[in-house]
Amino acid sequence: MFNRSEYISDKEWQRFRDASENFATPNLFINLRTIKQHFVQLKDSFPYAHIYYAVKSNPGVPVIRMLDELGSNFDIASRYELDSVLALNISPDRISYGNTIKKALDIKYFYDKGVRMFATDSKEDLKNIAKYAPGSRVYVRILVENSSTADWPLSRKFGCHPDMAYDLLVQARDSGLTPYGISFHVGSQQRDIGQWNDAIAKTKYLYESLEDEEGIKLTMINMGGGFPAHYIQPTNELSEYASEITRYLEDDFGSDIPSIILEPGRSLVGDSGILTSEVVLISRKNNTALQRWVYQDSGKFNGLIETLDESIKYPVVTDKDGGREGEVILAGPTCDSADIMYENEKYKLPVDLKIGDKLYWLTTGAYTSSYASVNFNGFPPIQAYYMTEDGVYDAAGNKVES
Ligand SMILES: *Cc1c(COP(=O)(O)O)cnc(C)c1O
Repeated sequence: MFNRSEYISDKEWQRFRDASENFATPNLFINLRTIKQHFVQLKDSFPYAHIYYAVKSNPGVPVIRMLDELGSNFDIASRYELDSVLALNISPDRISYGNTIKKALDIKYFYDKGVRMFATDSKEDLKNIAKYAPGSRVYVRILVENSSTADWPLSRKFGCHPDMAYDLLVQARDSGLTPYGISFHVGSQQRDIGQWNDAIAKTKYLYESLEDEEGIKLTMINMGGGFPAHYIQPTNELSEYASEITRYLEDDFGSDIPSIILEPGRSLVGDSGILTSEVVLISRKNNTALQRWVYQDSGKFNGLIETLDESIKYPVVTDKDGGREGEVILAGPTCDSADIMYENEKYKLPVDLKIGDKLYWLTTGAYTSSYASVNFNGFPPIQAYYMTEDGVYDAAGNKVES
């Protein structure tokens, strides 16, 4: 159904096969080389931007280490992520606390560790920042349209109306904080580049009115993530995103473009992952059913949570591709009937697929291993491995032998 070579070169495929063949399934292999390529490409596409990697998308130590070496900064969601990043000797001035939902004690914790950049979208949170992180730079996240063109929307839960953002930035100044800028996230895997245009226009309006009416000069725009990984549905190339978004910025801000932050997660790490599962059972629900149910040992609870509502559609390949195929329903191994990945989307797999065969889920580097449950039905969390130029490492950064 899918042409593997559209997603991964023969050479990288062979490297993956050689490295992974002796590991038990289900497992996830992350190719650091791919992440590096994507990071360099992003830097080249947005030479003026500061990159803050959204750690939650793949918090594996080998990934953080490499991005640190490449000069990335880090967007952090919790004190636990903060600890793991600081443990790698990453300086707190390269860290932004991007979660708008946080406890007062967590703000204090970040401040005590040296972090001075905080996101907010509410009065109460801002009060806490003023109290526990005095003098810090704050940026306010605005609501953007809940567009249907993002495959994994992030817009409803976070952000506030621009009118409220205005009030919050005034409140920030009045409480001794540094009003730094505006942030937004147009939705993850955003396929409509025009969504950035609307958000930048709202930002421009806030910049102007705050300066004109309050004398507050903001200096930063955080444009979030939203750039695509390579799943089934086609998207524009990253270069297309970059040239369009740069044009929107120039249209609104002319030659006076503020400092720009990007917080990529999915677009950096998504393409780097291959999740290997094993077919546990193939069955039909009646004697003449055309569709096979293919149950395999990975599912919603150990890696494939983003198949919720069939939102993210991963390409799936097998060792038997190229011959006759038939429709399947793809399901996971647990006793929860929600543990079905694709039923409406008609996946096809080889008719000679057998129990024990492997399925390779491509583009599974983002929001997979760290989103797995601890031991639902007793199944352990999926093991993630990181392929580097000098061997294979586990998520904690220890070298592993196959
Ligand atoms: C999750 C998240 C990101 C990463 O978004 P992607 O679409 O995966 O690139 C960036 N910023 C914030 C605040 C996030 O919560």
